[in-house]
Amino acid sequence: MHGKMMGTSLTITEIMRFADRLYQDTEVISITTDEGVHRSTYGKVFKRSNQVAHALLHLGVQPGDRVATLAWNDHRHMELYYGISCSGAVLHTINPRLFPEQLVYIINHAEDRIIFLDPMFLPLMETLADKLPSVKAYVVLTGGEKMPDRKLSPIHCYESLLSDQDLTYEWPELDETTASALCYTSGTTGNPKGVLYDHRSTVLHAYAACMPNVLGLSHDDVVLPVVPMFHVNAWGTPYACPIAGAKLVLPGPKMADGESLHALIEGEGVTIALGVPTVWFALLAYLKESGKAVKTLNRTIVGGSACPVSMMEEFEEQHSVYTHHAWGMTEMSPLGSVNRLLPGMGSLNASERNEVRAKQGRAPFGVDMKIVDDDSNELPQDGVAFGDLKVRGWWVADGYFRQDDNSDTHDGDGWFSTGDVATIDQYGYLNITDRTKDVIKSGGEWISSIELENLAVAHPDVAEAAVIGIKHEKWGERPLLVIVATEGVVPDETGILSLFKGKVSDWCIPDSITQVDEIPHTATGKISKKTLREQFANYSFG
Ligand code: AMP
Repeated sequence: MHGKMMGTSLTITEIMRFADRLYQDTEVISITTDEGVHRSTYGKVFKRSNQVAHALLHLGVQPGDRVATLAWNDHRHMELYYGISCSGAVLHTINPRLFPEQLVYIINHAEDRIIFLDPMFLPLMETLADKLPSVKAYVVLTGGEKMPDRKLSPIHCYESLLSDQDLTYEWPELDETTASALCYTSGTTGNPKGVLYDHRSTVLHAYAACMPNVLGLSHDDVVLPVVPMFHVNAWGTPYACPIAGAKLVLPGPKMADGESLHALIEGEGVTIALGVPTVWFALLAYLKESGKAVKTLNRTIVGGSACPVSMMEEFEEQHSVYTHHAWGMTEMSPLGSVNRLLPGMGSLNASERNEVRAKQGRAPFGVDMKIVDDDSNELPQDGVAFGDLKVRGWWVADGYFRQDDNSDTHDGDGWFSTGDVATIDQYGYLNITDRTKDVIKSGGEWISSIELENLAVAHPDVAEAAVIGIKHEKWGERPLLVIVATEGVVPDETGILSLFKGKVSDWCIPDSITQVDEIPHTATGKISKKTLREQFANYSFG
């Protein structure tokens, strides 16, 4: 027997309609590459999304067509998020930091029809355009008077294209499983793989993100996503903030510039900021150097890579900002877990509390997780046993775009293998110890590179740290600590190694430290262990 409730589809269009009705005057502030600070509102953004939808029709875009963006976090990108997906086309956000060959691969694989791009990316696209047969037109995200000289054709100016269009649009009533957006993972092996989100998964993810135990968003918040809208939808904030009615502050290209982030936080009254650890290293260094404060900021949500406890402590002790550690993946839209202490944990002493806070947190309602051994047997959730982390849920991909066989990544019961190795404790707190490929196997035991890296960056002489396994005759592999020293400092290697004593078993302590000018990163800002392992392929412990 079916219930007698309305079966209204969960669509992104409903988010737009809701915020346009109830939060039309709530601000959307952007840093743009062509006109500096731009002030808009949800009302204005969504009116212009109507114009985007008309412009897409004018450009010949059909439902299901992929429409790409190569853009920073700003109001125009937000207009495209809604204009493209709500018209029934698929928003393909492209990460401009990918290698040119990867860009060509993903644009051709997605068969993008139109590319909307920031003026800054014109030179890049000009070098690739003759390899992109599916692309029928380019649109530069700027106003007519700022339109740069261009070699691409056909090419349009975004503001001129929009200015002729109607401010109202008859949005189609989409089935909730209609594809809404596409994001390619920047895996370090093989070609990037496309994750195809749909309206339903996006709405459920955004709804969950707002909940108190997840991101806890409300219309009292001012949210600064320093996570790019070109990678996993800026952690869903462009959808969650309009649901919560939160003011949105979009930092444009100023993603890892401490001074600009500070100015935005102070100037716009930011209460919650989200980003990867690298971003917060930059902000904290700027605050330290300048003696400035972030008075309105209450919380940071840190994920994408492990957040060191030393960073949480600095935020809390120096700036009264509480940090929530979070974990997720492109395949998970991305939220998989967020760390909030349970009632009763307030009475833990500082070190016990930090031990819990260092973990990546608990899954929200909507995500199921488990750890398994090599034979896929479920392991106990006791905080000790570690194994491959598997997930399933409403906003987890059940395969990749244009890849029929998902048996490499999904088991018969629909669980997705994340490629992460983790423990889960009796309270459900997840602790990521490594990527499966990065785990160091020494004498049959596993050493967590993440744990060692977190300890290393707590030392004042260390600006950034990475631990990799180096081949070893006796033990198979042994850990090598690679560091970038704090500017102007000659690192005290003995002091750094002594940090590990008593915090990890003696056999987990790195055999040696080596200093480099720069640690390589992937297109999404994570440490590229693969590149680092290649760099140190011939290394041997002296
Ligand atoms: P991506 O799909 O590019 O967002 O990368 C997802 C991967 O980033 C995960 O599978 C983890 O390996 C890693 N990751 C994300 N958040 C964290 C975190 N808080 N701690 C450790 N690793 C993380």
